[in-house]
Amino acid sequence: MNTEHLKIPQATAKRLPLYYRFIKNLYASGKQRVSSAELSEAVKVDSATIRRDFSYFGALGKKGYGYNVNYLLSFFRKTLDQDEVTKVVLIGVGNLGTAFLNYNFIKNNNTKIEYAFDVIEDKVGTTVGDVPVYHLNDLEDYMTDEISVAILTVPATVAQQITDRLVRCGIKGILNFTPARLNVPDSIRLHHIDLAVELQSLVYFLKNYPAE
Ligand code: ATP
Repeated sequence: MNTEHLKIPQATAKRLPLYYRFIKNLYASGKQRVSSAELSEAVKVDSATIRRDFSYFGALGKKGYGYNVNYLLSFFRKTLDQDEVTKVVLIGVGNLGTAFLNYNFIKNNNTKIEYAFDVIEDKVGTTVGDVPVYHLNDLEDYMTDEISVAILTVPATVAQQITDRLVRCGIKGILNFTPARLNVPDSIRLHHIDLAVELQSLVYFLKNYPAE
């Protein structure tokens, strides 16, 4: 995503794909305009935040009219769809890793998992969801300049050492699905998704803040 030149705050930039998916659906269903209230209901972001976010995109909603769906769609396309596909590697072809390989992400945006890595002999040399699985020993051989993102679905105990190798290979972003808290240089973007913590936190909120 190239939002640097637009001076969009990071929190807003993170919501872009969410908006984009919804606007694409609206466009496909033939809708010409959408209000911030409708958007808010659909993407579950409050409408004041939506109005502020959209003002960064140069989209000015009119009272009683809403936002122009065509304008928004072309803005999101320009901003989110790069000409070239972002190439991704996945490390750790376990349950979660296998699910990602089968899903791949090409349908949603221009990212593609090119290669996967594991250390188990039975997995090395296979293909999962069209993605070849190589031995982690060979990681450096496959890490060309074109690979900018890595998804980590390995056991937590090995996550940091693999991260260090990825950093040496020039990775730009890491999506960490392990519970490990990873250290990376400031120049590298690290997003952490701990599914167990997310689930626990959901259960906690359900128990402690039941819906009225
Ligand atoms: P998941 O946690 O994805 O559900 P799992 O329970 O099947 O997976 P884990 O033990 O978490 O298995 O390991 C995930 C995958 O990471 C396995 O396929 C395992 O072989 C692989 N793996 C373990 N150590 C390494 C390593 N050092 N480098 C690369 N892959 C590894």
